[in-house]
Amino acid sequence: MAHINDNFLKLQAGYLFPEIGRRVAAFAAANPDKAPQIIRCGIGDVTEPLPQVAIDAMHKAVDDQAKRETFHGYGPEQGYAWLREAIATVSYQQRGIDISADEIYVSDGAKCDTGNILDIFGHNNIIAVPDPVYPVYVDTNVMNGNTGAARPDGSYEGLVYLPCTPENGFVPDVPSQHVDIAYLCFPNNPTGAVANYEQLKKWVDYALANDTILLYDGAYEAFVTEEGIPTSIFAIPGARRCAIEFRSFSKQGGFTGVRCGYIVIPSELQGKDAAGNAVPVSKLWSRRHTTKFNGASYIVQRGAAALFTPEGQQQTRALIEHYLTNAKLLSEACRKAGLKVWGGSNAPYVWVQTPDGMGSWEFFDKMLQEALVVITPGAGFGAHGEGFFRISAFNSRENVTEVCARIAKLLA
Ligand SMILES: *Cc1c(COP(=O)(O)O)cnc(C)c1O
Repeated sequence: MAHINDNFLKLQAGYLFPEIGRRVAAFAAANPDKAPQIIRCGIGDVTEPLPQVAIDAMHKAVDDQAKRETFHGYGPEQGYAWLREAIATVSYQQRGIDISADEIYVSDGAKCDTGNILDIFGHNNIIAVPDPVYPVYVDTNVMNGNTGAARPDGSYEGLVYLPCTPENGFVPDVPSQHVDIAYLCFPNNPTGAVANYEQLKKWVDYALANDTILLYDGAYEAFVTEEGIPTSIFAIPGARRCAIEFRSFSKQGGFTGVRCGYIVIPSELQGKDAAGNAVPVSKLWSRRHTTKFNGASYIVQRGAAALFTPEGQQQTRALIEHYLTNAKLLSEACRKAGLKVWGGSNAPYVWVQTPDGMGSWEFFDKMLQEALVVITPGAGFGAHGEGFFRISAFNSRENVTEVCARIAKLLA
């Protein structure tokens, strides 16, 4: 028999979303009369149709494929120049951020990118992750052999956990020890927290002093509406020497089912080889990306590029406003019900403390059985998520209004 990658056996069996699915399915099977009324505010998937500009651009791109003169086969692995130029101009340069098109690598989504990036790093790095955390960062490190075994609370030996708590506003403090790589995500999934300029500057200063690379997940940057909250790590001076940024069209353009994202690696960013020599990180990623990836679909990239036109920007804004208003309604409903609430502005997630010190899975079951609402238990995102739950604002207004009413009734 062939040897398997034993690291996979260290992964915790009950991955969060399958476990939620299992409990919902079991409840629905036992209560068929109630099943149709269940409202899902669990998994962070968008619900609203794509902006019309993206639909039109993709229809046209399909037609391009129908004629020899406009047909597109393999494109550049890094992404078409017209898309990379649009990203660099609209998302960075017009906001005064120094990023050029050749530092952008288009992909089929940020989830893959955040996992794949580990290909270009060694196995001897000290790696820090926030707690609670987007589970992909942790599980991909487990698969890559960068951790030890799982502990009973679900955390792994060998990782440095950065507690996110009400005390630090769910923005992790820089570690008290040296780390080589640190994951950050703002606006945050699951807590909805955002980091201000000063907080991000502390991280960049730490990274420059410690030769740390920051893996900055900006999948929700388009939800930032407040002045003074940076939308990119590269808004902080010095970040070009210490950060990689991940971005996605999934949440801002409703592309979860279309699939497109990108990585930004500044040309100055370096790591070191076994002999201690500095090596540009972008060179390795370029080699990895062109070897293992054959480019995002032409049709999809046309759809993504359309989002950067003035009309596309306007339609994207409207989509985000819809979800932000949902988040505001959900936050207010939880507050009125006497719960402690974080996030919910500048982010599509509302992070809530369970009432009466209930466990987060215990409260999940109560919400499911008594209010027919699916939430995400905080404990599924890490040990420090215990005692909290996440409500996703990705829903129709009708469903959100109903969820608000059910929360009021449940906790009256
Ligand atoms: C949704 C999400 C992404 C985006 O993933 P895609 O693969 O681009 O759909 C990335 N990071 C976080 C934290 C997310 O919640």
